[in-house]
Amino acid sequence: MRDEGRPAIFMDRDGTLSHEVGYVNHASRFRLYPWAVDAVRLVNRAGWLAVVVTNQAGVARGYFPESVLDEVIGSLEAQVVAGGARFDAVYVCKHHPTAGRPPYRTDCDCRKPRPGMLRRAEAELGADLRRSWVIGDRHGDLQLAWNVGARGALVKTGYGLGELSYHAASWSRPADLVAENPLDAVEAILSREPS
Ligand SMILES: [Mg+2]
Ligand SMILES: [Zn+2]
Repeated sequence: MRDEGRPAIFMDRDGTLSHEVGYVNHASRFRLYPWAVDAVRLVNRAGWLAVVVTNQAGVARGYFPESVLDEVIGSLEAQVVAGGARFDAVYVCKHHPTAGRPPYRTDCDCRKPRPGMLRRAEAELGADLRRSWVIGDRHGDLQLAWNVGARGALVKTGYGLGELSYHAASWSRPADLVAENPLDAVEAILSREPS
């Protein structure tokens, strides 16, 4: 663990940066939320790492080829760059423990809420996980954060409002922050913890 690392804001993709539409099995189905680029730019300007962490088991399940995933990630990155922002990394888990065929069918360590993608950011980018946050619309995104000693922000976009309304009361730990959308989440995180 590197003490001198930079804090990161890890962002889920579907339901957080982009509309939750089920499996994005064609690039035409991918639609970024209007505030997504502003959220990433704010993270950049604060000097924090901006990293996408997304489970895309549709590849393992055979719902869409890996080329669709590449196209969608390319579109996401291009739209962010066009808005004057950038991701330090985009990490994707394409695996599923029981569906599909190897190499995609595997009990990997990167399928959220397992911490593989965050550990990768620690190793490759020098992310200081204990000062980092995960922003997402599912309980699993919060568990991902807690699994490495980071904090989790739940957004009300995507599945978030339903998670909050019907499930959050039974969670053993509440979200460290609840926000309307990722831009509000980033603003709240950075105002709490100026770097
Ligand atoms: Mg999501
Ligand atoms: Zn994986």
